[in-house]
Amino acid sequence: MNTISQRLQHILTDINAIQRNAQRPPNSVLLLAVSKTKPASDIAIAYQAGQRHFGESYCQEALKKQRQLGAFDITWHFIGPIQSNKTRDIAAHFQWVHSVGSLKIARRLSEQRPSHLPPLNICLQVNISDEATKSGIALADLPELCQAIATLPRLKLRGVMAIPLPQNDFELQRQPYQRLYQAVAKLNNLCLDTFSFGMSGDLKAAIFEGATLVRIGTALFGSRS
Ligand SMILES: *Cc1c(COP(=O)(O)O)cnc(C)c1O
Repeated sequence: MNTISQRLQHILTDINAIQRNAQRPPNSVLLLAVSKTKPASDIAIAYQAGQRHFGESYCQEALKKQRQLGAFDITWHFIGPIQSNKTRDIAAHFQWVHSVGSLKIARRLSEQRPSHLPPLNICLQVNISDEATKSGIALADLPELCQAIATLPRLKLRGVMAIPLPQNDFELQRQPYQRLYQAVAKLNNLCLDTFSFGMSGDLKAAIFEGATLVRIGTALFGSRS
């Protein structure tokens, strides 16, 4: 077994152990393999080891890899900053977008989602550590924005994504996820089912606070140069 497939097995074992520990049901956390900056050959190795969901942050780079991996049955997730001039490509070439941060971008994605494809799965990116990261909506704007986006015909609003300020302490890692989870729980008419929480450094805190999808790059593919 090569390193990527060994790391994949370790991460899946970890996720299962944390899930049990947190008294979450089996298979309630999906692994999104974040392959940004990594070559298509690395994606192919993880795919051959069973991984199917991959996350990319840069549209042109992702499209190139998608062409190289055309024969693979991959579910592609866009997780990076979204410029208006990229929404057409993103709407046509991804099944999920986690980083929607405005009604304007959501409207463009809905208008540009090709009619032969199913509605595009969307998560709203919430800026949960306030000034720490600049992208994402404020928690206070979440209810109104969710109601508006839920009416867009070519989108399916699935939930929220957050990238909190990095913290080493487990309890401090949990707090922002807990606040966001509770805010989403109040929007129960929208049937949101996705909490895109957690990266290589805060996997455990994220799963304890309800992550249904964890976005792992470095721990799977190694550090990015
Ligand atoms: C790069 C990236 C990740 C993966 O981060 P790692 O620390 O390498 O696991 C997760 N989410 C987003 C939005 C990213 O841009």
